[in-house]
Amino acid sequence: QGPKSHAIQKNLKTVFKFKNFKSSLQQRAVETVTTGKRDVFISMPTGSGKSLCYQLPAIVRSGITLVVSPLLALIQDQLEHLDRMKIPAQTLNSQIQGEKRLAILADISSKKPTTKLLYITPELAATNNFQSICHSIASRNLLSLIVIDEAHCVSQWGHDFRPDYLKLGNLRVKFPQVPCVALTATATPHVQKDILDSLKLKEPTVIFKASCFRENLFYEVVFKDLLEDPVQDLKNFATKVLQKDEEEGDMNGCGIVYCRTREACTTVANRLTRLGLPSQAYHAGLKSSHRLQVQNDWVDGRVPVIVATVSFGMGVDKATVRFVAHFNIAKSMAGYYQESGRAGRDGRPASCRLYYSRDERNQVAYLITQEMAKAKSKEQQRSEASKGKQTNKHGKASIQSFECLVKFCEEEKCRHSVIANFFDDRPPNCNNSCDVCKSPAEVRKQLEYLKRGVMA
Ligand code: ADP
Ligand code: MG
Ligand code: ZN
Repeated sequence: QGPKSHAIQKNLKTVFKFKNFKSSLQQRAVETVTTGKRDVFISMPTGSGKSLCYQLPAIVRSGITLVVSPLLALIQDQLEHLDRMKIPAQTLNSQIQGEKRLAILADISSKKPTTKLLYITPELAATNNFQSICHSIASRNLLSLIVIDEAHCVSQWGHDFRPDYLKLGNLRVKFPQVPCVALTATATPHVQKDILDSLKLKEPTVIFKASCFRENLFYEVVFKDLLEDPVQDLKNFATKVLQKDEEEGDMNGCGIVYCRTREACTTVANRLTRLGLPSQAYHAGLKSSHRLQVQNDWVDGRVPVIVATVSFGMGVDKATVRFVAHFNIAKSMAGYYQESGRAGRDGRPASCRLYYSRDERNQVAYLITQEMAKAKSKEQQRSEASKGKQTNKHGKASIQSFECLVKFCEEEKCRHSVIANFFDDRPPNCNNSCDVCKSPAEVRKQLEYLKRGVMA
């Protein structure tokens, strides 16, 4: 029981209107950040409530919390969310001008600012003008916390590297007395190390890391070339999962099928529908109004199955997804984990099935190599030696991540433990939540066919 635990509990209920913490990890993170003695690194999956880990401390602590977030759209979302809870939060960016800007500056220059959270982009953080604003806040002892959200953007191993994030290390160094918090949903060891190093978090940094193990997800791999009719198999699988769910009284069950190409989405969706499972295709090639319609039909439960490219899922937070099927291999282990992880957010049992074929493995491997070559030649044109290294690192990470997914498919190892190993986690207790643990004989038979080259 820390000294501020009463204030934490009270604000959790009255301001955020939550009965409890979402997890003990969330609670411990909030308490540690509120105490403010150490820098904190938080790695938790999307949807697990990372924002609360700095927003609640920001309210309980005195002064202003500075939050760096990569996109204006994300900042806007957060501000609207905070506004609904009547939490005074502002943003400074190039789009905020005139009187609005003056009013914000006046408030944060005043003796007792009302602003509790100030959101900025990394670009702004690097400007001289903003640095002097920061100094002014800090010199009055009003800089409470420095928060770096989506901190994986600092890493070249990650998928959305933002060079401006690298400059945030300076910010941390300029205000050594202010505690710093970095948050991300990307949990790979490479990315974590980059975040701790580049943001210059003070040692010993307190690390809160959610285990990547999702015990309610059943993982399995099916070799596509051994099936007479893969779409029929997919239909049978989906129908069985959804029926079982209905028998258990949940009428909201639905599923996602991921395909690699737009054409495949359309073909598979049409075929599933003809086989009696209403499905709709979703991909970036559709008119945006139609795409939105498809998404809404699925979210509202009018169409149970959406057949999509990876462009689908970001920001969609539907808890009752009972299955995620990959009809083609994903591009990386990190991507596969994230996509399949959209199943079973409500904590009830859900299935993740990957349809694997070596032909498709070869196609994707080729695509990754091509992308790397393209990126490399682009940079050689610009002849920036330092950036050349960045692509190398990123390219290497892509290949490693893809190779890990191939192993996931081709090795007779517990699927959950392969995932855990990729994320540097302790091996979990699968408890028959994967095909290898549950039916080893069948998996072995499948693998023997594969290795004998019976399949194409
Ligand atoms: P993340 O940044 O980890 O993806 P968010 O901070 O956006 O997650 O939170 C995801 C959802 O969880 C939000 O709808 C938020 O309101 C909700 N949430 C956060 N903490 C709690 C809690 N203690 N109890 C219930 N819901 C919570
Ligand atoms: Mg977040
Ligand atoms: Zn297992």
